[in-house]
Amino acid sequence: MQISFFETHPWEKEELKKTFKSHKLFFSDDILTVKNVRKVKDTEILSVYICSKINKDILDQLPNLKLITTRSTGFDHISLEECRKRGIVVCNVPSYGENTVAEHAFALILELSRRVSQTRKEVLENKKPIAEMNCFDLKRKTIGVIGTGKIGQSSIHIAKGFGMNVLAYDIFKNEEAAKTMNYTYVDLPELLKKSDIITLHVLLTDQTRHLLNEKTFKYVKKGAIIINTSRGPVIDTRALVKALRSNKISGAGLDVMENEDNILEHNKLSPDQKYLLSHQDVFFTPHSAFYSKESVQRILFTTIENIQSFLINKAINLIK
Ligand code: NAD
Repeated sequence: MQISFFETHPWEKEELKKTFKSHKLFFSDDILTVKNVRKVKDTEILSVYICSKINKDILDQLPNLKLITTRSTGFDHISLEECRKRGIVVCNVPSYGENTVAEHAFALILELSRRVSQTRKEVLENKKPIAEMNCFDLKRKTIGVIGTGKIGQSSIHIAKGFGMNVLAYDIFKNEEAAKTMNYTYVDLPELLKKSDIITLHVLLTDQTRHLLNEKTFKYVKKGAIIINTSRGPVIDTRALVKALRSNKISGAGLDVMENEDNILEHNKLSPDQKYLLSHQDVFFTPHSAFYSKESVQRILFTTIENIQSFLINKAINLIK
């Protein structure tokens, strides 16, 4: 079989070469695009990360493709409808680091509550008084967790360690976890009205696209902070900018952003993105919440299992 891997790192190549010795392998550090897809025109198995957008134009040029295994949990970069039409199996890495992403969400929260990097710069270098750093405690604050799946649960666990009150919203309530971990499900407007910190952990679907929009921002408690480590389009950027400009919210921690490719790949920012990236109360990390030494190893090993299982006609981690 020809197996092609895009967006790979040297250590991954070594591991993959050892595992799939008897197959024809192709590796590229680049993302897969219409410009380079010709290099793998005969490939039967394809593995990408989230920056490669697998749409009709790409699939039209891969007539032998049978399996796409994304090295991510999210799969909104793959056109499932186009894959279904062609009988291409798609699988993902359903869980590799719920703690990793939740820890990152708290890194962003702590940037806003403890101002670690800002204090270092402003107080040490620019000699600003500490009192201007606007730090606050997390203990006894209310955190609203939107999406109580794997990462949401892990975030609740961490929040409890900080002594926070937890409100949650999800279309599927995990009442057992709510009882064990002592948190409360409420509807979205109530969560937004009562939370000092709102953290997003939903999947990106038609229902969650722009879940935070101009209308729902009206419910948000004045001075709240918003954390997004889920997917950029869950927040309407225009509405977020408006909420910051009007001081409706006091800050945001964003690992993801609508049209983040503009920032990550093309270095071409929209006016709203420029505003967000230059705002002193907005912390942006470039979709790096998934990354830790341990999590990337788990991603690779699950991807290897996905391919091995497919090769013996027992595909696992299928996206339906
Ligand atoms: P999960 O499937 O375990 O949980 C998602 C939750 O969202 C589920 O409980 C589901 O019921 C809920 N949900 C779905 N539709 C909803 C709706 N309309 N309203 C309310 N709740 C809804 O997923 P997860 O593994 O916890 O991942 C959560 C998010 O984090 C996803 O968007 C994923 O793509 C993202 N993620 C980001 C990174 C990163 O590096 N930033 C890494 C991994 C995952």
